[in-house]
Amino acid sequence: MGQSVLMPAGYTRRDGALFCDGVALDTIADRVGTPVYVYSANTIRNQYQRLAAAVEGLPVHVHYSVKANSSLAILALLRSLGAGVDIVSGGELHRALEAGFAGSDIVFSGVGKTPAELERAVRAGVRSINVESEGELAVLQDVAHRIGVVAPVVLRVNPDVAVDTPHPYTRTGERGMKFGIPLDRVIAVARAMSHMTNVKLIGLASHIGSQIGDATPYALAAKALVQLKREIESENLARLTTLDLGGGLGVTDDDGSSLDLRAYADALRIAAAEPGVEILIEPGRFLVAESGVLVTRVLYRKHSGGKEIVITDAGMNDFIRPSLYASHHAIDSASSDAEPTLRANIVGPVCESGDFFANNRLIADVAPGDLLVLRATGAYGYSMASNYNSRPRPAEVLVDGSRFAVITERESDADLTRRETFAPDWIED
Ligand SMILES: *Cc1c(COP(=O)(O)O)cnc(C)c1O
Repeated sequence: MGQSVLMPAGYTRRDGALFCDGVALDTIADRVGTPVYVYSANTIRNQYQRLAAAVEGLPVHVHYSVKANSSLAILALLRSLGAGVDIVSGGELHRALEAGFAGSDIVFSGVGKTPAELERAVRAGVRSINVESEGELAVLQDVAHRIGVVAPVVLRVNPDVAVDTPHPYTRTGERGMKFGIPLDRVIAVARAMSHMTNVKLIGLASHIGSQIGDATPYALAAKALVQLKREIESENLARLTTLDLGGGLGVTDDDGSSLDLRAYADALRIAAAEPGVEILIEPGRFLVAESGVLVTRVLYRKHSGGKEIVITDAGMNDFIRPSLYASHHAIDSASSDAEPTLRANIVGPVCESGDFFANNRLIADVAPGDLLVLRATGAYGYSMASNYNSRPRPAEVLVDGSRFAVITERESDADLTRRETFAPDWIED
């Protein structure tokens, strides 16, 4: 690939310079510094509208998966479009509430929720706790009993559906994986729940993986949930009003093939045909990935062992997906649309051989000081950034038309040590 991939919506070239909507990326780099994540608000709106159009007429509600990009301004933008959220931690609960979501807009997923997280979620009045194990259910019953409420529960089922994602780490819906309650245990759990006083079964959920390019596994998961729902209702164990089909919708310009939204809507229709149900979907990447780029400055070039190496000021601490998932991201020059003529490894400054963005990639012939742009980095970019090598995390900028704003300040060196002490305050046991 390389420069052959079409620019995602929101990104255009004018006289060689790369623009995000109405703002030149080099303007942002000059004002805010590099590395910097830049997001197009219009691209997020477009993706949301495309999805909404595809499911129009169906009782579908979008719950954005916060972990894809959890910045408050992004959450607030999605809230303004009508989305709820799917969270996986107490920290994400905090973010969702800060961004203005009501408890009833929030679905709480995750394989290892602590008692304290469950308590906070129940107190916040979340729409559902998506319970992933019998142990978690017991803890939730205790927590809800102590507070004196009945917690709404959706059982996350492991539907044993195999998906073909670009990397094994992004598959979650097969037997033996840590996610969800095994298919053959769900009815037993529903029976047990019918005797529990402080948890109420309201639905079933599945989330089978990420970067899924084919609608078939969604149809299989929908059928599995519908089948279980009917069994549960025929035994009069509960009346189910929610079927949650999770996220995972694949996008282009990364490493997956983009999902055909019409086929996806057909898969949702299988679940929506059940009377009296609301269908929830939890897209993360689909809504934000293509809206974002990571802008980084070239620091050095060198040759080694017959290879050309381009060293950038962004590293794996800023953007770990190529190292973690071997993900492919198109890399462009921000200032020139010259034909790519340089075959190089694009690497970061972190002291790890795994710190690279691309190997043997054909890019523009860049020099130190030039800006490079990694595409489709709006999802699982900043939200996975760390301080490894004591590198302050980058800034995030939102572009809306011809305006831009820093939505997350670049961390400072002082931020790195703010919670540490060189003089420990010992506690005697
Ligand atoms: C991560 C996650 C999602 C979102 O996945 P995407 O691939 O970003 O769409 C949705 N639901 C659950 C439970 C998740 O863990």
